[in-house]
Amino acid sequence: MILTFNVKHNRDFTDELKKARQVAEFAVRTHTLSSKDVKHFGLNSVIANQILRKYSRNKKIKKVGHVNLTIPNQGIRVDREKQEIYIPSLKLTLPYTFRNDFEKVNQIEIDEQYAHVSVTIPEKPVIQPQTWLGVDRNATGHIAVVANPQTGKVWKLGKKAMHIHMKYREIRRKLQKLRKYRLLKRIKDRESRIIRDLNHKVSRKIVEIAKKDNAGIKLEDLSGIRNNKKHTKSFSYGLNSWSFHQLEKFIEYKAKLEGVPLTYVEPKNTSKECSRCGSIGIREAKSFKCPSCGHVDHADANASFNIALRPPSVGGVGQLHVDRDACKGSTDTPDREGRLRERRRPRNSVMGSRKTRLIVRSDAEISAKARTSEASAEESMSVVIHSKGAGHLTGSRTVN
Ligand SMILES: [Zn+2]
Repeated sequence: MILTFNVKHNRDFTDELKKARQVAEFAVRTHTLSSKDVKHFGLNSVIANQILRKYSRNKKIKKVGHVNLTIPNQGIRVDREKQEIYIPSLKLTLPYTFRNDFEKVNQIEIDEQYAHVSVTIPEKPVIQPQTWLGVDRNATGHIAVVANPQTGKVWKLGKKAMHIHMKYREIRRKLQKLRKYRLLKRIKDRESRIIRDLNHKVSRKIVEIAKKDNAGIKLEDLSGIRNNKKHTKSFSYGLNSWSFHQLEKFIEYKAKLEGVPLTYVEPKNTSKECSRCGSIGIREAKSFKCPSCGHVDHADANASFNIALRPPSVGGVGQLHVDRDACKGSTDTPDREGRLRERRRPRNSVMGSRKTRLIVRSDAEISAKARTSEASAEESMSVVIHSKGAGHLTGSRTVN
């Protein structure tokens, strides 16, 4: 699996980035593939070559947007003991604190602030699950409730999310009234960092449980979440939908790395049906009662049992969203918001087809380490998922 880690480089590359753009514009005009033709711009030839390959070959590009400095694998040296990456063409040393078990660095893209280091991480072979865990995600209460029908055990995870959200919503309202927009932005960023951190912890825990119980993971297919009454209603006072999708992406890639199979089920009536007898029950706030068989349960626990017991929806077992996505780890337009969102490339830009990309960025993944060292706090991580635009769940979904 390819993951992209963002490392702050602390260098001024304004000049090089300007030259890179000039080379790209030249490439779009002339479609040349020879670095000799662009020598006069003064950009290092290793980098110039990458840009030419990217921009000259694609005849669809008419206008050049933001251009990063791209360094291919051959132009990168890695010292694993020192945990340093060296780029000779830029005389740039990048200390890193992200996981050291990567197979190789595929490429590095550099913008004004960050070096986006794309690495290949080995995946563990997929386990044969003995059972399936149902994971119910919620906008209110716990962000995830997990159930194992084989053992009857239930885990309620991420209770803090709601409190955090309410607390920050109050602060945001006050700042809005005071028209303190800059502070408002900082507060928003802080909230999304905290939620992201929580999503990382919760997803890690879910994959841990699955491994321990020798289970696969079932999630509701919430790609039509906006048209889903249950959720639109709760979103008005609960967490945002991006948090849902972020949690989903985190569970997906962590499961994939650990060889835990994951699949999606039809979400219809998962919170209304009785997990014991299947009849429609009565739900009040977080309690569930079945008038047919008398079953009484925590509403989210009941839902998670339903999810666990449902057959996989279209796509089948083991088909991850991530799986369907050929992934190169290129991040030409890095996400600065630090949260999950969909990016549609403008027409006529690089890869100007109908490709969509999701970028999940997170400092939280390495936050345990990051808190202890200054340099690593500058690092963050992103999973770049390219979706092909076809397929059942991928291309059409919209993410906030
Ligand atoms: Zn029942």
